[in-house]
Amino acid sequence: MEVSSPNVRYTDRHIEAQYSYQTTSVHREGKNITVSPSTTELMFRTECHVPRLGVMLVGWGGNNGTTVTAAVLANRLGLSWRTKTGEKRANYFGSLLQASTVCLGSGPEGEVNVPFCDLLPMVHPNDIIFDGWDISSMDLGRAMERAQVFDWSLQEKLRPHMSCLKPRPSIYIPEFIAANQQNRADNVLTGTMSEQVEQIRADIRDFRQSSGVDKVIVLWTANTERFCDIIPGVNDTAQNLLAAIQSGAEVSPSTLFAVASIQEGCAYINGSPQNTFVPGAVELAVQRGVFIGGDDFKSGQTKIKSVLVDFLVSAGIKPTSIVSYNHLGNNDGKNLSAPQQFRSKEISKSNVVDDMVQSNPILYQPGEKPDHCVVIKYVPYVGDSKRAMDEYTSEIMMGGTNTIALHNTCEDSLLASPIILDLVILTELCQRVTVRPQGEEDYQSFHSVLALLSFLCKAPLVPPGAPLINAFFRQRACIENIMRACLGLPPQNHMHLEHKLQ
Ligand code: NAD
Repeated sequence: MEVSSPNVRYTDRHIEAQYSYQTTSVHREGKNITVSPSTTELMFRTECHVPRLGVMLVGWGGNNGTTVTAAVLANRLGLSWRTKTGEKRANYFGSLLQASTVCLGSGPEGEVNVPFCDLLPMVHPNDIIFDGWDISSMDLGRAMERAQVFDWSLQEKLRPHMSCLKPRPSIYIPEFIAANQQNRADNVLTGTMSEQVEQIRADIRDFRQSSGVDKVIVLWTANTERFCDIIPGVNDTAQNLLAAIQSGAEVSPSTLFAVASIQEGCAYINGSPQNTFVPGAVELAVQRGVFIGGDDFKSGQTKIKSVLVDFLVSAGIKPTSIVSYNHLGNNDGKNLSAPQQFRSKEISKSNVVDDMVQSNPILYQPGEKPDHCVVIKYVPYVGDSKRAMDEYTSEIMMGGTNTIALHNTCEDSLLASPIILDLVILTELCQRVTVRPQGEEDYQSFHSVLALLSFLCKAPLVPPGAPLINAFFRQRACIENIMRACLGLPPQNHMHLEHKLQ
């Protein structure tokens, strides 16, 4: 695909696009509101060379780790397998980039939609090389069997390729994850905290060299940890955090991995709910100009919530109570059955409707929110096939009540895996995009806190002072429109004015 425009230039190395960024600033004085449109001229520059990408997963031997690795292998090998309902083929359904489309505009045959991943040069998941760490020493062939996600006939085809993959020993600090995880911790590093961080850094360098990848991204898909207290002098600044690691103070494994990764110049993404990105870790990432993103994959129930509440509130209907029950039987569920780890998940799931509620002062008074309750129970029998039941009660016209009840069943790891792929591929793409305001000499990168990943995260991490968006279609439009900007194309406006005038 190529854009034909005087504002877009394709060179050997870059796509350069001149772009008019249109915004509005709003001043409110009492009941008077003044809106002033403004335009900033920008130059977007996207490097075209797609590197060989290596992804290191923390928690590689878990359900998500094994499932995403196996799914990529199955796609790369073009595998198909028989089930009781017929032949299935490897695919990437559930991936924004691989399995959803973007409307480019209209041609003689009507609207033209292309795969999202065709918009800009980006890594294909089949080309990603995986490595990683786990506190469990099980090879990935056996770990895939333990996960109970794939049909047996597919596992048999994948096992020879998976069994040779072995997780590296990891950092294990028992008080951060549930006590019920202890019996799988047979692959752990020893030594002081700073020695362990040095080992993780050495692992990253070793993987980069031995696999021949150009870039490494590290992603936490290990168990949910309890929240960390933000302690002045320990984790409030980059300097204090580095000193705390030297002295062996309280720092969570996920934060230690973040520090190691940032120090190696590798982007780091947190797929679990805990507060890995303590202020010191954020400051370190900003100082080193490394991307960080998170928190907590937005895969199932929360994804629906971010669609449904957006629909209700933007239709002028007032959700007054949202109650979400989950039960699941995988190791994630077992870990979340401990109160402190459940608390991390509860916090991550609880703020998801805030931006939508706050956007509508007709329905909600300042500070007013719907009742919102989240329950998670561990039921081993259902394995990875998570159940999510939600009840949304809303106030409609003239005191009426509208109740929507949902029941959602599906393999949790098959929802999370395409999200893991989108997270790393988008992050890598963002490393190749820079922007230069007109009249300035230097191109700037995105902020180290990569808010563009919000679409894929339950509790999006955004730069200080930036708006936090949870609403699904606003998040999606953000990614789509920034990619369009890289091609000098205006945002998708859905006006279809050409069909509405006489
Ligand atoms: P899992 O329990 O199957 O896998 C986690 C793996 O991490 C295990 O193999 C465990 O041994 C390992 N581990 C624990 N602590 C470690 C450490 N310090 N270093 C290295 N490895 C460590 O869980 P899962 O289903 O794969 O989920 C992983 C994480 O993703 C969980 O925190 C979960 O809450 C989060 N998450 C999952 C989904 C989903 O849809 N699957 C959605 C959002 C968030």
